[in-house]
Amino acid sequence: MTETPNAAAESGAAHTLLLTCPCCGLACDDLAVGAGGAVDGKGCAIAKAYFARGKTASLPHAIAGAPASYEEAIAAAAALLSSARHPWFGGLGADLNGIRGLLALADRTGGVAEHHASKFLMRNYGIVQSEGWMVSTFSEIANRADVIVIIGDDQRNAFPRFYERLVSNANALYRDAPPEVVLLAPPVSTPLDPAVTRHIEVAETELLGQVGALLALIHGRVWRSKTKPADGLAELAAKLKAAKYGVVAWSAGALPGAQPDLLVELMAEIVRTLNVTTRAAGLPLGGIDNAIGSVQVVAWQTGFPARVAYKTSGPDHDPHLFSGERAAASGEIDLLVWTAAIGPVQPPDYDCPVIAIVAGDMELTHPTAVTIRVGMPAVDHAGNVTRSDGVVALPLAALDANTKYPTVAEASAAILAGLTTGGRS
Ligand code: SF4
Repeated sequence: MTETPNAAAESGAAHTLLLTCPCCGLACDDLAVGAGGAVDGKGCAIAKAYFARGKTASLPHAIAGAPASYEEAIAAAAALLSSARHPWFGGLGADLNGIRGLLALADRTGGVAEHHASKFLMRNYGIVQSEGWMVSTFSEIANRADVIVIIGDDQRNAFPRFYERLVSNANALYRDAPPEVVLLAPPVSTPLDPAVTRHIEVAETELLGQVGALLALIHGRVWRSKTKPADGLAELAAKLKAAKYGVVAWSAGALPGAQPDLLVELMAEIVRTLNVTTRAAGLPLGGIDNAIGSVQVVAWQTGFPARVAYKTSGPDHDPHLFSGERAAASGEIDLLVWTAAIGPVQPPDYDCPVIAIVAGDMELTHPTAVTIRVGMPAVDHAGNVTRSDGVVALPLAALDANTKYPTVAEASAAILAGLTTGGRS
């Protein structure tokens, strides 16, 4: 694994660039991408689909469904935002500069900002806020972890190169043998990654009880619940206690069952407990469409994580009050500004006008008041995204810098310049 920033270096074949992928929180920085968007070598299916999108048809800016010039679309968006009383800035799928631009708009107009993955982000940050956690970096895990327990899901859907980049590091600096890798999760439908040494299969409904049992076993407590510890759980507890560097990995968006927040709490507590006698760390995987970047920009500007309202009295954070789902259900949102420059995530069906700031190839399934087409990070323009572990903002080079589309940052700045009033009250 390398943390060397890609430098858009020529890699042999004409026009082939070494690019970083912005799609999931692994932010792989070793993709060789040809000028046509073909990803060879190491790219996963998600990356291949992403870089190929630059070649698909480019759709126009629009006002009420009719094609419009960029200037007209920006002016229409600025007019709508100038008169909005409670605008909502959702999606936030953009590079770091794009997110900064959107937050500047939210700040000026008294809006609320939340990434489309904020529901999952808050499962983790709720625990950080209430109890704290001990987590590690990709490099530490790839080089030191000797026992890795992956909870809830085997992670390959959302993080296709997870095992390759973090688990199966043949050149680990500080361990001599491959790590023990135990999956504690419901059954999976495809063969497991070869790195998984044991799968302790549990039903979705029993996962919470089994993770609780694992914590009790690590504590050496008697487990009095009706749920019997699954076969292999006591052995796993012993392995984690004996490990030099145990890791508990999960993805908040893929935790099954009705109480994912409690699962995160238990996993954080397992790590804390292990650290009394040995070394262990959590690995909260996440970061689709630069979700971790959105948290970091909001945090460095306001001190809060996801779901922040920009009020005249200053920024405010409430993980429940500033949920778009909740606010839309109670009719509080009068304008949705939805940004999807990376993954083609559709705007939610809120009962209000929508300004869509979306990639040039993205078909929208719902009518919008204004559609502004923007470039895709790493395809159309350079930028930065934050990796899942939050310690590195990786630079993105541009596959095709000749795009006709603006960046999200440029579009946001143009709207900001066109506002006739701050909408905040
Ligand atoms: S694993 Fe994630 S970051 Fe890596 S190439 Fe695939 S989608 Fe991109």
